[in-house]
Amino acid sequence: MDAHQQTQQWVQQDLAHCWHPFTPQALWGKESEVLMLESGRGVWLTDSLGRRYIDGNSSIWVNIHGHCHPHIVQAMQRQAAKLCHSSYLGFGHGLASALAERLVALFPAGTLTRVFYSDDGSTAVETALKMAFQSCVQTPGREQRRHFVAFANCYHGDTMGAASLGGVGTFFSRFRGFGMEVTHVRSLEELRAKPQEFLDTLAGVVIEPIIQGVNRMTPWPKGLLRELREFCTAQGIYLICDEVMTGFGRTGRMFACMHEEVTPDFLCCAKGLTAGYTPMAACLTTEAVYERFLGAYSENKTFYYGHSFTAHPIGCAAAMASLDVFEQEHVLEKLPPKVALMAELAEQLRCTEPHVAAVRQCGMVMGIDITRADGSSYPQDARAGERACMAMRAHGLLTRPVTHDTLVLMPPLCIEEPEIRQMFAALAAGIRDALQGDLA
Ligand SMILES: *Cc1c(COP(=O)(O)O)cnc(C)c1O
Repeated sequence: MDAHQQTQQWVQQDLAHCWHPFTPQALWGKESEVLMLESGRGVWLTDSLGRRYIDGNSSIWVNIHGHCHPHIVQAMQRQAAKLCHSSYLGFGHGLASALAERLVALFPAGTLTRVFYSDDGSTAVETALKMAFQSCVQTPGREQRRHFVAFANCYHGDTMGAASLGGVGTFFSRFRGFGMEVTHVRSLEELRAKPQEFLDTLAGVVIEPIIQGVNRMTPWPKGLLRELREFCTAQGIYLICDEVMTGFGRTGRMFACMHEEVTPDFLCCAKGLTAGYTPMAACLTTEAVYERFLGAYSENKTFYYGHSFTAHPIGCAAAMASLDVFEQEHVLEKLPPKVALMAELAEQLRCTEPHVAAVRQCGMVMGIDITRADGSSYPQDARAGERACMAMRAHGLLTRPVTHDTLVLMPPLCIEEPEIRQMFAALAAGIRDALQGDLA
């Protein structure tokens, strides 16, 4: 079988039996080719027909140091050859211990001191919610704190608890009432204006710090996170930072909350934790929270929560190796010129491309809004963002839009200057190819 025949077979099997996430399956494979990705190296991905693409959204926001970084692959291989999986329920293992110490050391001493591992971003958020809730239930005087506040248009994952927080109507409104009750606010002012009796029922406030991802890559006003931290502290409400997208250098600092010297009570990380190589997540919390779960056996204060693959050894190996790469390759130190070049090229694009209406950026994360040439929005059914991204493939760039017409550029942090230029050239060409005919 040659590469074409093999690809054909895989596509047929996919169309017959597979079901893709966040995908209108009625259209899948009908309007554009189904790509079968086969290998990767650095910022490049290669499909089963040998065509190469820049990974413009870090394989759905997860990849940090590029694909198949030899140091990380070797660490995973070494661990795989020793032991692929052991239970974290009743046992420990060396890499999980060492990784916890290393993660905690990324934060100011004595702040976040405990690490609870899980599988992905959603379960890291579930962990934080359940811990915050149970911690309140088990603390005299805080038993009435059972509710959560989240922000309008936020995204915290798709399991029921995380989805209850979700503020994106398209994804979550049909599940309202099925999950837990959450109050959404648009701003800190709106939260502050709530009656004290309501604030006294809050276990936690959940936020994507510094920048909301799914909400068209929208940064928060400067200083908001710091003020929210102060408000939560004064009110005795836990601050839960969802750093699933922003963690591990994405915004230019190791964690986004570091831009405002904030330490939350719970910090959720996942996507980039293993450099994006295997599913694995961690919810970090304070010793004060941890101590709420200590007591005599009969007091039943245990956190009865966990997953089969908690603290997966190969994931821990990847995470440890990824932190090595941050140190050895001075990854964060090398970001500022890349961030600046992305800003410069985006501004050029905004000035020269009539379909580009606005650009928002935070470190290596960028959202680019596209509209009709006259500045009006496309109707949802025009699927302009999606068509533009499909057209970019022919120019060697892979990415996806969020919330219809915001194009995302979030390349692996290892991207170099020529590749950044190539990425923007492909983006511009794709927009032109897809939208040029759309005048009004
Ligand atoms: C992706 C994401 C999640 C969900 O993570 P999964 O690993 O997909 O479950 C949660 N919060 C934020 C901010 C995310 O970007």
